[in-house]
Amino acid sequence: MDPWRVHKFGGSSVADASCFERVASIVEGDRGSRVAVVLSACKGVTDALLALVAGAELQDAEIEGRLQALERRHAELAAALLAGADVRDYANEVHADCRHIRGILEVVRLTRASSPALRDLVAGFGELWSGRLFVRYLGRRGRRAGRIEWLDARDVIQAEQGALGPHVRWQESRDNLGRAAHTATPVTLVIPGFVARGPDQVQTTLGRNGSDFSASIFGHLLEAAEIHIWTDVDGVLSADPRLVPDATVIDALSYHEAMELAYFGARVIHPQTMAPAIVKGIPIRIRNTFAPDGPGTLICDRPASNHQVKGITTIDRIALINLEGAGMIGVPGTAQRLFSALREHGISVILISQGSSEHSICFAVPLPEAAHAERVVRDAFRDELVHGQIQSVDVAPDCAILAVVGDGMAGTPGVAARVFGALGQAGVNVRAIAQGASERNISLVVDTKQAARALRSVHSSFYLSPHTVSIGLIGPGAVGSQFIDQLASQRERLMRDCSLDLRLRGITTSTRMLLGDPAMSAADWRPALDRGDSADLSTFVEHIHADHLPHAIIVDCTASAEVACRYPGWLAAGIHVVTPNKRAGSADLTFQAALRAAAREGGSHYLYEATVGAGLPVMQTIRDLRRTGDDIRRIEGILSGTLSYLFNVWDGRQPFSAVLRDASGKGYTEPDPRDDLSGVDVGRKLVILGREIGLALSLEDVEIDPLVPDGLTACTAGEFLDRVGELDPLMDARLRSASANGCILRYVGVLDAATGRATVGLVELDRMHPFANVTLTDNVVRFITSRYDRNPLVVQGPGAGPVVTAGGVFADVLRVCAYVGAKL
Ligand code: ADP
Ligand code: ASP
Ligand code: MG
Repeated sequence: MDPWRVHKFGGSSVADASCFERVASIVEGDRGSRVAVVLSACKGVTDALLALVAGAELQDAEIEGRLQALERRHAELAAALLAGADVRDYANEVHADCRHIRGILEVVRLTRASSPALRDLVAGFGELWSGRLFVRYLGRRGRRAGRIEWLDARDVIQAEQGALGPHVRWQESRDNLGRAAHTATPVTLVIPGFVARGPDQVQTTLGRNGSDFSASIFGHLLEAAEIHIWTDVDGVLSADPRLVPDATVIDALSYHEAMELAYFGARVIHPQTMAPAIVKGIPIRIRNTFAPDGPGTLICDRPASNHQVKGITTIDRIALINLEGAGMIGVPGTAQRLFSALREHGISVILISQGSSEHSICFAVPLPEAAHAERVVRDAFRDELVHGQIQSVDVAPDCAILAVVGDGMAGTPGVAARVFGALGQAGVNVRAIAQGASERNISLVVDTKQAARALRSVHSSFYLSPHTVSIGLIGPGAVGSQFIDQLASQRERLMRDCSLDLRLRGITTSTRMLLGDPAMSAADWRPALDRGDSADLSTFVEHIHADHLPHAIIVDCTASAEVACRYPGWLAAGIHVVTPNKRAGSADLTFQAALRAAAREGGSHYLYEATVGAGLPVMQTIRDLRRTGDDIRRIEGILSGTLSYLFNVWDGRQPFSAVLRDASGKGYTEPDPRDDLSGVDVGRKLVILGREIGLALSLEDVEIDPLVPDGLTACTAGEFLDRVGELDPLMDARLRSASANGCILRYVGVLDAATGRATVGLVELDRMHPFANVTLTDNVVRFITSRYDRNPLVVQGPGAGPVVTAGGVFADVLRVCAYVGAKL
């Protein structure tokens, strides 16, 4: 005969009609001939029932409406899932139960008081309703072989409420099962979770989340081969997914690990749940109802798993009480007195820590018990406090416990170092520490307001590559979208070869933004962005700079001064900035100083290679020269791809205006070509270069010879293109003069380090000059330095265009990654 298999479905798995359908298919998918199905109440129903009791105590007039809503919700489920007389019978049963509940509520309302027994009585109806619905539905589908039987858990489980919660009377329960359960196979038992009967035969419950316990009890009683706990996540995760979006599914856990995790707040399993299963060595699988094919998490006696740390959890609402005084040193029995006093008053202590100096003992209790605990301690040590042997009893109320759990921690040095290292880097202050001798658990007390940060930083130190980088792109224009493509093309390789996890988690324009987690797809971001939220830079940056990820980079591919003026704030917060935007680099000197100071403060990097010469290695060359002790005396260059193109192509055989119109038509110029012709763009680049070599240069200091005559500066871009012919006589004159001298014309920026002079303008150059032999949009930069003296160092190549500019930006992004430790 097949062994029994128990399937338990949580409230989220039976939230609505389509959920019941899913659950039925899962049950039908089990080909075994002996299956027990334990069901929770439909999602939210237990809470709603308990709220009715609380409402009745307060004489809330709304409770009748809310009770009717619950009845209606179940009637509607029945209408959707059942047919014929079943619908009516089921609705009648629920209706009768509601009448019963109404009676109880009336008593509570009149006496303005309820009791735990009464609350248990009301709370248990949810499971009866979901169970009775499901047994009919499964029967009606007719896809499971054999009998489908309703087994009322109240007729089986005898439970007693004790100080440590409900405990099972095994002998009675076993006898009950023998009487109540059908043994003929094949059979499917449908069992309501959570409910049981007390010794007085009154309905009671197994405590919140008690359906897990029910499953384990039935597993034990039926000697099941496996228990499957079906929920709404893929298994036990390395941390609460609502707090740590990057939590990953743990493949396997030992019973002990699972107990610790559950105790420390991993709601997916209930700590007591496992005890009955452990006794019989029954493996428990946590699986996802909404993705039933996944492997889930296996909880068993001796699991095979590669992780040392299985999970990290937090418990909130803790108070830390510290007892301090020289009088405790070497005095035996202080701890015993302290903890017996607490025990006598029924206060549960969650964590204890005593330094070996015995000068202080601290312990953590649930926050609601803090005031009581303080009174008890003061009382117990009244004399010592009066006589000064104990100086103080302090209560720190807003604390949380962070627990790091894993069997593999035992005997593995370095786990604690990693935990504390991560907390230190995240600036989290640890108030108390406890590690059990089993080394299965390190618990720390931190301030509540730092708890999420603490959890995330410790989690990322164990579960993420230390080089997980969150990237936000501002301005997905020509360069920005090219950057996205390049990033996507290299993502997998970088992950594979360098363990570098580059995650593009946000894209924003000035109007719309798209936020993603863990990373967005490079393929279809464009339509998603069009449908995205309205842009808000603060929200955007907050998302990119997620606490749970070790590093964040903002890539600004706009030309916007408004965006640039936010850099100092970002840098100070520890966010790296990479940009081809010249605005920040050429803004006034005070801003420049603020930018540097912010980067120092935040320990962040600001890189801007693509501001000059697009992807050409210009800034990097300057840095290398300076760092190795070379002295840069002069920089000369053709620094505008547009102007380079115009003077490379124009040879005087056609009017200059024709070449300009053609270039504009091909998209080689700014939409308003005057932005190029004014020389300001080149001026900005000179400022950036000048500052890089240590000059205090501002845009006003640059002597610019603009190519736009005064008469054409004020009109619109359209008018300018119409009237651009007015430029021709001026340009012709300059070209004639140059030709007469055997020269050609080039638009050149020059920076002289000795005098600090910066000039930008059209110059006549010998036909043999290196700047004469450039093609298309080439940029050329010549460095005259003490090492490269007679024969300057020249960097030359395409200095404009989305592909090369994005390449320069990407290189900077990778440079930041290397700075934070990635092995590239
Ligand atoms: P059910 O309704 O199936 O009983 P619960 O809500 O009781 O489900 O438990 C599942 C929830 O537990 C998950 O949706 C998740 O939000 C939460 N949870 C907290 N910590 C963890 C963890 N470490 N692993 C998995 N889930 C967790
Ligand atoms: N319905 C009960 C609760 O919400 C029991 C359970 O779902 O496990 O606590
Ligand atoms: Mg649960």
